[in-house]
Amino acid sequence: MGEVIGIMSGKGGVGKTTTALNLALAIQHFGDDVIVVDGDIKNPNIGLYLGIYRYPATINDVMRGGAEFNNAIIKKAGISIIPASLSSTSSSIGLTKLKNIFNDMDGHVILDFAPGLGREALSFLDICDKSLIVTNPNIPSVASTLRLINILERQNKNILGVVINRIGKSYEITREDIETVCPGKTVWEIPEDENVRKSAMMKTPVLDYKPYSRASVRFSEMAANILGKEFKEPSFPRIRDFFSSFRRPVADNKLPELKDEEDGRGNDQNP
Ligand code: ADP
Ligand code: MG
Repeated sequence: MGEVIGIMSGKGGVGKTTTALNLALAIQHFGDDVIVVDGDIKNPNIGLYLGIYRYPATINDVMRGGAEFNNAIIKKAGISIIPASLSSTSSSIGLTKLKNIFNDMDGHVILDFAPGLGREALSFLDICDKSLIVTNPNIPSVASTLRLINILERQNKNILGVVINRIGKSYEITREDIETVCPGKTVWEIPEDENVRKSAMMKTPVLDYKPYSRASVRFSEMAANILGKEFKEPSFPRIRDFFSSFRRPVADNKLPELKDEEDGRGNDQNP
């Protein structure tokens, strides 16, 4: 059965999509199957992060019954993703259908949520087995995180832990603060890392762009913890990253060929 991990946050722009893509790649490096599904169907951005602007089908099409799940999968930078439509305003979502598909799969589904708990996020919540809450180390972000955790706990949802993303030189909230206000929750810290922004420019996850960067190493550790695998801190990460940049052309793209007759089918995001 496919385990569905929802990547959620109280506020937008905290690093959900970044976490979703890098966690997926790290899980895959540990040998498990994984697929990332864009669940932010009003403001999808997984396609933008990976430089994919045209798709044979989207998750919106799958939920509407207009496309097969397997036909909507795109491989980019080594990960399987299902994007959402950039221009769809549809909120009629076939969740039962999606849940059944996920149930029949092996491995993990990483579901990248819209921020907060609006109507769509709430309905996607029903098909998640676990959730991972992403926050930034500032007071407004953590305040909205606490509200989100409160709602999830009232619904008896399984919370994997809290990711404090973008920890820089100065911050308003520490790991200890989070551990105090969210007792018993696992906390992961991801540093502010310019390689994350550079990787977005290169249209690939940072774990692909610089596998030993400070953020990449912490994403790998998070994946190991979630999978219950051993994690070893890499030695000489800077040197290894230097050599890794010679290893591959950026992002091995495996985009499906679009046939002429497919161009219009369900692709309301196509130019
Ligand atoms: P969300 O999905 O929650 O809206 P994103 O993953 O799109 O957030 O990230 C928002 C912005 O923050 C992006 O420009 C991304 O490149 C940047 N970002 C995310 N995490 C980091 C990090 N650890 N270091 C530096 N920049 C980051
Ligand atoms: Mg996002």
